[in-house]
Amino acid sequence: MMGKYTFIEQTLEDLRKQGLYNTIRTIESSVGAWVIVEGKRVLNMCSNNYLGFANDKRLCTAAKDAIDRYGVGPGAVRSIAGTMSLHIELEKKLAAFKGTEAALSVQSGLNTNLATIPLLMGKEDIIFTDELNHASIIDGCRLTKAKRAIFPHRDVDGLRALLKENQDIAKKLIVTDGVFSMDGDLAPLPGIVEAAEQYGAIVMVDDAHGEGVLGSHGRGIVDHYGLHGRVDIEAGTMSKAFGVVGGYVAGSSELVEYLRQRARPFLFSSAATPPDVAACIAAVDILQETDAPVKKLWENAEYFKSEMNNLGFDTGHSETPITPVMLGEAKTAWDFSKRLFDEEIFATAIAFPTVPKGKARIRVMLSAAHSKDDLDFALGKFAKVGRELGVI
Ligand SMILES: *Cc1c(COP(=O)(O)O)cnc(C)c1O
Repeated sequence: MMGKYTFIEQTLEDLRKQGLYNTIRTIESSVGAWVIVEGKRVLNMCSNNYLGFANDKRLCTAAKDAIDRYGVGPGAVRSIAGTMSLHIELEKKLAAFKGTEAALSVQSGLNTNLATIPLLMGKEDIIFTDELNHASIIDGCRLTKAKRAIFPHRDVDGLRALLKENQDIAKKLIVTDGVFSMDGDLAPLPGIVEAAEQYGAIVMVDDAHGEGVLGSHGRGIVDHYGLHGRVDIEAGTMSKAFGVVGGYVAGSSELVEYLRQRARPFLFSSAATPPDVAACIAAVDILQETDAPVKKLWENAEYFKSEMNNLGFDTGHSETPITPVMLGEAKTAWDFSKRLFDEEIFATAIAFPTVPKGKARIRVMLSAAHSKDDLDFALGKFAKVGRELGVI
């Protein structure tokens, strides 16, 4: 007789056989340029800690002070008894930072999409979505009964054709990642906005990898392209460049008020904790005041990428500090990553199904926390392993 868990055992077995079983490494220190992974000190080249805020003293102090004053938990969902003055302060500061009328704090970037998309779109409506959009956007779309029109990656003409075909549907939403996380390429937002304006569509951008990275002081992709006031909804995360955890939606006062009244992750899941929110406020305060960490991040990214190219590595077509080191077959990428780990570099391989077959890679994430010595150390190791494996 088949046990009730046989299907799980079989799936796990299949993953092992296909070489897709993910062994997750354990970090035993704070997340900085260097981390302790399973007892070993290694250079961290795979976190989304773009600005080095994950263990920044100013954020840590803000979190500790918040615990002393507010304790560790919000005690309830925000709409019943969980909204603290800290949440309101973060929302005001985020709106000012983004240049929008209002912002709403939710628990994660994933939740921004689950909060927003189902609230806007019903079964009479249509969502236009880039084929490479993040899983949380896809899940947000799945929570609606709206029709879906998937447009080819970054293809404004393809989007226009679909808009035209569906122009009789009254309510239209175009949703896209701002920065695509596997290749580091940007959404063609100016073209998307123009098409949206022509066809009367709402535009939403998920700026998870653009926050703290693009635009003046890291204000994100809308600022980068100078599209203030022309993008209806900006969704963001506090878990990448901001170094903490949490998410927010920024836009018009009406939109944010609507979310406050009706968004399910807001109404049915407890608020972000006081230390998290306080650390997020500290991160926004720092970026309001200075763009030094953003500049350092870009300097590091440009140096590392150009040196990797000089060594003969293919770093794809990234336009951001996300640096894919293209290796082809999954096995090469896994072997490369293991050899790098032996050499004190922590950089994970990414293969199918996260990226297409034959496009396996090591995705290097640069950070303002890296020193030039760190980058030179990494370049030496990449060169060594690259030659060893016949990649360069
Ligand atoms: C990482 C990411 C998220 C999820 O953010 P969390 O705060 O970790 O939940 C959502 N959307 C995009 C585009 C992302 O890259």
